[in-house]
Amino acid sequence: MSDTRSAAAIVERCQALYDDLDFNAVRQWKASAPGRKAIGYMPIYVPRELVHAAGMLPVGILGGGDQLEVIQGDAYYQSYICRIPRSTIELGLTGRLDCLDGMLFPSICDVIRNLSGMWQILFKDKYVRYFDVPQNYEDAIGGTFYTHELEVLRDDLGRLRGAPVTDDELNASIGVYNENRAAVRALYAYRSEKPWQAPTSEVYLVLRAGMVLPPEEHTALVREYIAAADSTPRPKRDNARIVMTGSFCEQPPLGLIKSIEMAGCYIVDDDLLLVTRWLQADVPADGDPLVELSRAFLHHSAATAARYDQKREDKGVFLLKQVKTRGAEGVIFAAPSFCDPALLERPMLQDVMAKHKVPYTAFKYAENTGQMAPIREQAGTFADSIKLWSAA
Ligand code: SF4
Repeated sequence: MSDTRSAAAIVERCQALYDDLDFNAVRQWKASAPGRKAIGYMPIYVPRELVHAAGMLPVGILGGGDQLEVIQGDAYYQSYICRIPRSTIELGLTGRLDCLDGMLFPSICDVIRNLSGMWQILFKDKYVRYFDVPQNYEDAIGGTFYTHELEVLRDDLGRLRGAPVTDDELNASIGVYNENRAAVRALYAYRSEKPWQAPTSEVYLVLRAGMVLPPEEHTALVREYIAAADSTPRPKRDNARIVMTGSFCEQPPLGLIKSIEMAGCYIVDDDLLLVTRWLQADVPADGDPLVELSRAFLHHSAATAARYDQKREDKGVFLLKQVKTRGAEGVIFAAPSFCDPALLERPMLQDVMAKHKVPYTAFKYAENTGQMAPIREQAGTFADSIKLWSAA
């Protein structure tokens, strides 16, 4: 039997995966058996089950973070857009994504749409797909459309591997991802219950490891972390419990998450790496897999700025539910600079928070933001004000 690892050892391993912009974990996975393929995907949601069912490794591509110097990528974009497309181009042009046999660009904004077009031009030998999702939530309309989109992707992946992806394979993969989602739900529930035992700077790294590890391995890692984190008591502080939202695409630097925590906030829910929690309920693994995946998307997906709301009254409902169910005392709106989906949604969400007397503060970041002092001061002041109000 292998030794039990400490939470620190698990986090150290996850940090190494996070720091590795050459995706060596993916390269090693591919090299360990002949003919293996890996498919990259951008935030926010793609049905990873289809890639897994084709025997391929789904790989989350989340930009270059704060360690990558963007040189060529800047030439492809104007200055007034977010940073993730530039750093992703940089990763591609510098050969770091050579280990990928294809890329999926989910429908989220014009920037990602344009990036998918650039990818087709720049990397002609790779499979590239712009993956569209429904904006109508009726099974007969949006569901029919989405099932067709899933069918096209499934056929494409089947061609790429040289054999069609079967229903049995898909159902098995749905089961694998149900397990992964259950583990991630347990992790989020644990952090909310004892945020001093599982700080978000660690939870994020554990979650992020799932972007490059096979889901079966990641599920085991998440469960191992929860057990390890719970085994050693850590000091509990009188921090403000907050929900962080708006960070669903370009990722904040790890230092920003640490700064918020050091400033006196416990992050008890967030919308980071949403692909791991987009589907909020188990997907039946014994039916028509594409229909079940479609139903799950239509009826059980996280309602964030990344998902079209059909009615004005739906705005803010999901965020408010996060606040209530996690017992949060406030919201930090943290969005990437120039992120249209997050920043256009923000005033509507703030309006809902104000109506329900939920305190909030807001700022912007870039994945390579280096100056943390202003953010620490702002988050610290916010935490203090929450504590003063709640004491009144
Ligand atoms: S950070 Fe925002 S604007 Fe930029 S690609 Fe992502 S969703 Fe689009």
